[in-house]
Amino acid sequence: MGKIEDLKALEAEMAADGTLPLRGANLVFGEGDPDAAVCFIGEAPGFHEDQQKRPFVGRAGQLLTRLIEELGWKRGEVYITNIVKRRPPDNRDPLPEEIEAYRPYLARQIEILDPKIIAPLGRFSMNYFLPAAKITRDQGKLFRVGRRLVYPLFHPAAALRSTETMGALRASFLRFPDIVARYRDLIAKNPPAVQEGAPPQNPLF
Ligand code: URA
Repeated sequence: MGKIEDLKALEAEMAADGTLPLRGANLVFGEGDPDAAVCFIGEAPGFHEDQQKRPFVGRAGQLLTRLIEELGWKRGEVYITNIVKRRPPDNRDPLPEEIEAYRPYLARQIEILDPKIIAPLGRFSMNYFLPAAKITRDQGKLFRVGRRLVYPLFHPAAALRSTETMGALRASFLRFPDIVARYRDLIAKNPPAVQEGAPPQNPLF
């Protein structure tokens, strides 16, 4: 099976999984090019995402789309999803047990997509990949996790609330083409942590 069929099968499996929390809301699985080099991963769907069953289509999503397009890329050329795939009530933060419940599905989704670069948006998604990281300290830094680069960024919703955060998010976005171009070199020059699954040490830059 190809990636598209594998993703469809995974989505169907999630839809049928009666043990997943937040089952009253729609499943927002993710969208984009399954062969994209870059995969953006947010926190959880909001109101508009739940309505449209598409990730990042509300105000924060429109900003994300604009930032992608400012690079000369198209939204459809990247992949976009969330760690928790159903909307928490009243847009509250996802609970640790909700993140854990959806974790195996996100892990399998990432295995299928096999992106070179994962850009977690906001601290919940960042801590999924980098448990010890702090968003204000580590956003815009680049880490190696296994055979991928992880590039945590401020959540676009936070950028909508603060011009300083917006400036930092924009500046980090501008580095994407360089990071994509240097992926092979960065991986080759930075061996993975000695122990498989060990948390990454220092940022690459
Ligand atoms: N915020 C997120 O984290 N994800 C979405 O899909 C929309 C808003």
